[in-house]
Amino acid sequence: MSVEQNTSASAPPELSVVIPVYNEEENLPELGRRLLAALTPRFADFEIILVDDGSTDRSWELITNLHQEHPQHFRGVRFFRNFGQHPAVFAGFQAARGQVVVTLDADLQNPPEEIPRLVDKLNEGYDTVGGWRQQRHDSWLRKFPSLLVNRVMGWVTGVRLKDYGCMLRAYRREVVDGINRCQETTSFIPALANLFAGRVAEIPVGHAERERGASKYGLGKLVRLNFDLMTGFSHLPIHLVGFLGIAIALLGLGFGLFLFLRRLFVGPEVEGVFTLFAILFVFVGLNTLGLALIGEYVGRIYREVRGRPRYVIRQTLGGEE
Ligand code: UDP
Ligand code: MG
Repeated sequence: MSVEQNTSASAPPELSVVIPVYNEEENLPELGRRLLAALTPRFADFEIILVDDGSTDRSWELITNLHQEHPQHFRGVRFFRNFGQHPAVFAGFQAARGQVVVTLDADLQNPPEEIPRLVDKLNEGYDTVGGWRQQRHDSWLRKFPSLLVNRVMGWVTGVRLKDYGCMLRAYRREVVDGINRCQETTSFIPALANLFAGRVAEIPVGHAERERGASKYGLGKLVRLNFDLMTGFSHLPIHLVGFLGIAIALLGLGFGLFLFLRRLFVGPEVEGVFTLFAILFVFVGLNTLGLALIGEYVGRIYREVRGRPRYVIRQTLGGEE
């Protein structure tokens, strides 16, 4: 196998590293150096794909330099404008050829030196390995939403992880292929991966403070990301509205029944006002339920439109190659 790898230029590399880059001119030179230092002794053949997410600083120039200096290790993809971190990682996944794909932030908050450990863990027989930021150096404004996301995502996808937000992760080729077959425009890659990965592991990784450049996530972007997560992975909000509708309608029915019995045994209440309430409750409840039903259909249409693969095959026996 190694002979073949050395002779044919099209053999897939052992490892692809995918990095979204948005205005990271201050971090790119050190990132490049540290990646090469961490990967060269360990991997015979690897590629680093830097996806420039519409940077307005010198990031693309620096990516071009890295590619020219080390064409066998650095590749670049440049977006027309800023599309977001996850779309950038999607683009990197499309371009990646490696048997193992690792994602990483460009701001050096995720130490590149952890990559070999992630790959080691993957080779123990896991489909994805996530980093878990044991001592996270971020503000509370960033940490608190993450806490919520971890809870909700664990619940919704059925895969409990300590840290859904950590982008330092390793994926097996088959999982990346599964993600590449998804048609959706907005998504959250670590959660999407869990739909296809059967064996998931998490290892603690280091996390540094952002030393240069500012965080690219304002409150608006964070809120949007969390809405993407909620609508992308669950119909739970719609179901809750449906349950609310049923509850209100039942309450109205119960109240109506109570008023009816009261009329039989005690006599009529004041001018039928409460009867009206009971009727109103039933109709409001039915309305709400109707809304939830429409929502359910819309949700199902959304699910179809996303075109996610129904399954991903690990192995087949017999048949064609
Ligand atoms: N990023 C991107 N497009 C964006 C926002 C961020 O490609 O619109 C990249 C950014 O360059 C970095 C990674 O995504 O490599 C994480 O961003 P950041 O460090 O700003 O997020 P935080 O660490 O604050 O969550
Ligand atoms: Mg960061």
